[in-house]
Amino acid sequence: MPSQPTSGNDLARFSGLQTFMRLPAAETAEGLDVAFIGVPMDIGTSWRSGTRFGPKQLRQESAMIRPYNIQTGAAPFDGLEMGDLGDTAINTFSLSDTIRIITDTYDGILKHDVIPVGLGGDHTMTLPILRAIAKKHGPVALVHVDAHADVNDEMFGERETHGTVFRRAYEEGILVPEKVFQVGLRGTGYTAEDFTEAQGWGFNMTIAPEIWGKSLAPLAADIKSKIGDHPVYITYDIDSLDPAFAPGTGTPEIGGLTTWQAMEFLRGLNGLNIVGFDLVEVSPPYDPSGNTALVGANLIFEMLSILPGVPYR
Ligand code: MN
Ligand code: MN
Repeated sequence: MPSQPTSGNDLARFSGLQTFMRLPAAETAEGLDVAFIGVPMDIGTSWRSGTRFGPKQLRQESAMIRPYNIQTGAAPFDGLEMGDLGDTAINTFSLSDTIRIITDTYDGILKHDVIPVGLGGDHTMTLPILRAIAKKHGPVALVHVDAHADVNDEMFGERETHGTVFRRAYEEGILVPEKVFQVGLRGTGYTAEDFTEAQGWGFNMTIAPEIWGKSLAPLAADIKSKIGDHPVYITYDIDSLDPAFAPGTGTPEIGGLTTWQAMEFLRGLNGLNIVGFDLVEVSPPYDPSGNTALVGANLIFEMLSILPGVPYR
């Protein structure tokens, strides 16, 4: 049996080392099927910061999650060996250096046959992660849940920020554009054409009003059929949710997803060839209740529950 999270019946939930779900801490990814890695950065943000504290609070709130997904039957820890590698040693004074460090860190992790789980951190981190992922797996399919498309060309002349990630990834050829699915887009734009250029590259966009009040199971099924068995990376920006559910984030937009839509969507992706995922943009200073991080930690658990090799009971 693979390592299990420390049970709340063996050691009180508020005790112990702060790892994700109180799984074992690990020095390297050797022997792991799934490795958690915190990326405590917020210097790529354009409005409110604070995501440097995201990994810590995601781990803290994850302590309440129990190992079985009794709603779906998934038993992620019965099939996969998981460990928490701690945080990437980013340079909080240099965004460009931090981006380089993240790729180097992921290159090291991906020497092993492991699925990396990134705990954010601002969305800039996903670009250097995708660079490392593509070195190993080739250009990947992408499921990107977000209020924003993050396809700006530059911000203040900077080409690598949390708002430019997927334009850079497209330009660098590390995505399969026809297999990129952006879900939950909304808010206000600088031009009426903010989304249309990326659609021309092949990106598939589902804007929030198209899914208001609806089940997301059909959308997930459609995306799954279009991705097939191609290696896919999931990047989950917590601001895809309505601020009523996740106020603790840097660039909130009203009219977003509900928590049950997010859960239904992720559950509907079960069966994809997921090679990595992240959850980004949790900013604890804007939600002292911890609720945003609690939602984020549970969505990470939902993504663990659909990884290849997870048994059902
Ligand atoms: Mn984003
Ligand atoms: Mn966003």
